[in-house]
Amino acid sequence: MNEFEKEIDAAFQAAWHADKGGDAKWSGFMEQYGAEPLTDGLKKELLNSEMKISRGAFPIELRRVMEKIMAKHPNEAKTFAMDQKVLEYYQKIKPFSGLNDIFANASTGTQKYSQGLQKEKHNTIKCKNCGAPRLEEMQYDNCLFCGSALFETA
Ligand SMILES: [Zn+2]
Repeated sequence: MNEFEKEIDAAFQAAWHADKGGDAKWSGFMEQYGAEPLTDGLKKELLNSEMKISRGAFPIELRRVMEKIMAKHPNEAKTFAMDQKVLEYYQKIKPFSGLNDIFANASTGTQKYSQGLQKEKHNTIKCKNCGAPRLEEMQYDNCLFCGSALFETA
C-alpha cells in the first residue's frame, strides 16, 4: 500500500467504525482533513430516508474526506475510482435485508435491477451510483447520500 492507499483505507475504516450517522470521533477525523460535515438537519433527513444504514458515517462524508486525500496525492488519485469506493462502503453499512441483498449481490454493479424490484414510483430521479432518490423539494446536483454527480431518470 502506498501513502495514498493507506490514507484512503484509514478514512474508510474510521467512517465504518463510527456510530450510525457519525460520532464525535468521526467528526474529529473529518475536521483533521478540513472536510465539511453534513448539517444536523440534513443528517436527520437522511436517517429518515429510504437509504437505510445500520452503522457508520454517511457515504457522502467519507467522500468528502477522500476528496481531501486525493488533493494531497494528485498522482495516485488519477486512477482512483471514487464512486466505486463510496459504493463499496455503502454496501458495508447498509442493513442486511435478506432476499433483496441476494438480488443485489447477484447483479453486482447493476443497481437498477434491484431498484426495479422495489415498489417505487417511476419518474423519480435516482443516483446512478447508490440508487438514492433525488429529493424533489430541494435543489442540488450531487447525490445527498453518496455525493455522486450521476443522476438518472428511472
Ligand atoms: Zn448516491
